[in-house]
Amino acid sequence: MSTFSKAFAARQAAAQLKTTIRFCGAPFRRVPYGVDYPDGLPLCRDCGVEHGQLHVPTCCVERCPVCTKQAIGCDCADDDEVMA
Ligand SMILES: [Zn+2]
Ligand SMILES: [Zn+2]
Repeated sequence: MSTFSKAFAARQAAAQLKTTIRFCGAPFRRVPYGVDYPDGLPLCRDCGVEHGQLHVPTCCVERCPVCTKQAIGCDCADDDEVMA
């Protein structure tokens, strides 16, 4: 396994621990891959997580649980939650 994929596997594992974002101080459960994604692929096409897992931060497929739009393209999460 390359250094890159090891690092990415660690990011995928870390992403599973962050189950919510905060919006106006209230927690919202993040949307796991598979619930609402019509691609039908076994793995997320961007970050590679499996159905039922949470996306890696900055994944362009993840949806925002507040507005249901692309998570990286919306401003819902409180500022301290912004994923750079
Ligand atoms: Zn993803
Ligand atoms: Zn949003």
